[in-house]
Amino acid sequence: MATVDTTITPSVSPLAMRRPKRGVPEGLWLRCPGCQATIFRKEVESRLGVCPECDYHFYVSANDRIRQVLDDGTFEEWDADLLPTDPLQFQDKKPYKDRLKAEQARTGLRDAALVGTGMVRARRVAIAITDSAFIMGSMGSVVGEKLARTIEKATTQNLPLIIISASGGGARMHEGILSLMQMAKVSAALARYDRAGGLFISVLTNPTMGGVAASFASLGDLTFAEPRALIGFAGPRTIQATIRIELPKGFQTSEFLLEHGYVDRIVRRADLKSEIARSIDYCGK
Ligand SMILES: [Zn+2]
Repeated sequence: MATVDTTITPSVSPLAMRRPKRGVPEGLWLRCPGCQATIFRKEVESRLGVCPECDYHFYVSANDRIRQVLDDGTFEEWDADLLPTDPLQFQDKKPYKDRLKAEQARTGLRDAALVGTGMVRARRVAIAITDSAFIMGSMGSVVGEKLARTIEKATTQNLPLIIISASGGGARMHEGILSLMQMAKVSAALARYDRAGGLFISVLTNPTMGGVAASFASLGDLTFAEPRALIGFAGPRTIQATIRIELPKGFQTSEFLLEHGYVDRIVRRADLKSEIARSIDYCGK
């Protein structure tokens, strides 16, 4: 398979180099960030967004996750009408309310989480998915509220709970303290779910960072991770600049975290549905 010249020309800013655009670019072919090979888009799509050459797991949207994990046509969305507001009238490069409108138009989502119920190989579950395409999958009031309500429904309906995290942004700074309090709120709901004997499977995907990693994503009874996902609290550059020591190789990857006991199992995307079904049976849920 032909490879492409990956030399970065000086006209590309260092920021653009570090932060490639999320999502699969348009066109018939695409370049794999994992092995730099040029691959046929259809081939990647037929493998659930995984590179046939090196097993790199591409970004997939929350809606695609639903199709990959749940049995066809079984998803019923919960709380689809929850909409974000702008209580602080926050503004960075642009006003938060304009940013929300732009993200909603671009992603087709109302906020960064999709929640509901459906079947995994004929086992009913409560499921929540965050989508890194919507303001980096960050947790504002809507994400927190949707997750908390999903966990509460899983508790009262005695359902296994699956949360698939794809959140590079952590807490959503645009909502200030209201986003930070979601960490405590969701964690408290999970504690009640745990006391009621629920089974929570947390699936960490690339990326799972910040306040999401520091709250619900780390509280699973079982913690799965997709291969080579970036998982951590602060980014490696921030840590390196703060503590001024060389970080170990592979730091904050799924494989490193498996070795250190933070992740229970690395699950390839093609195996996720079966692994969830098997875990539910194994735990007698
Ligand atoms: Zn590849």
